[in-house]
Amino acid sequence: QLRIDKVSKTFGETRVLEDISIAIPKGAFVALLGPSGCGKSTLLKLIAGLEAPSGGNIELAGEALNGVPAHRRDIGVVFQSYALFPHMTVNQNVRFGLDMRDMPKADAKLRVEEALELVKLGGYGDRMPSELSGGQQQRVAIARSLAIRPRLLLLDEPLSNLDAVLRKSVRVDIRELHDRVGATTVMVTHDQEEAMSMADSVAVMSGGRILQFAAPEEIYERPATSFVGSFVGSPA
Ligand code: ATP
Ligand code: MG
Repeated sequence: QLRIDKVSKTFGETRVLEDISIAIPKGAFVALLGPSGCGKSTLLKLIAGLEAPSGGNIELAGEALNGVPAHRRDIGVVFQSYALFPHMTVNQNVRFGLDMRDMPKADAKLRVEEALELVKLGGYGDRMPSELSGGQQQRVAIARSLAIRPRLLLLDEPLSNLDAVLRKSVRVDIRELHDRVGATTVMVTHDQEEAMSMADSVAVMSGGRILQFAAPEEIYERPATSFVGSFVGSPA
């Protein structure tokens, strides 16, 4: 379980996140939904340990994460620009995080195979990223984060670089993968349809705050503010 308690973040004079509190049950798929600049990526970075909060606490499975370095959090992250290392094969890309953790070679090899199977890219290990489609590259990035067997998977706009057709299919892939692997997942998006169709619950953000955190149906039926109502619209 992920527990975020009264978290805030300021950069210099600018307050980017304000009084964020949210509890995400183990195994859940949660979307952070909101317009550009509302603080979604910043919140993910605080959870991942890539930035330190200015105030408040973050706990994972009952353990306070304050001061725990990113690579000791067992959190998998796929960034907004998910860039693979272009000069490394798929296998080498997926292995990267394991080598950083000093995993023995034979174990790492099995983990890489397992992760690539999970994203349905078994047999693609020796290819270079440039020999893959955008959607396949995206799945390699996800495999890279799964290889460490994360307690928590953070996805920042995982579909943003894909065309409309691919978006639909990778949407389904990501949700199916979640249901198979069972890792608690937090996905950032500014696309309401994506959030509402993929997640068990959605946190709607604006101006560094969470306006509403609820199941998609609840948000459609009872939006907490007029902003939420207009941002999510009505079911397609
Ligand atoms: P998008 O949908 O465009 O990715 P976002 O919701 O992810 O937006 P963030 O990247 O979290 O937005 O940024 C929130 C605000 O914080 C923005 O106004 C941004 O300019 C500011 N910001 C983010 N990182 C920094 C930083 N390192 N220093 C100063 N300001 C920052
Ligand atoms: Mg962002």
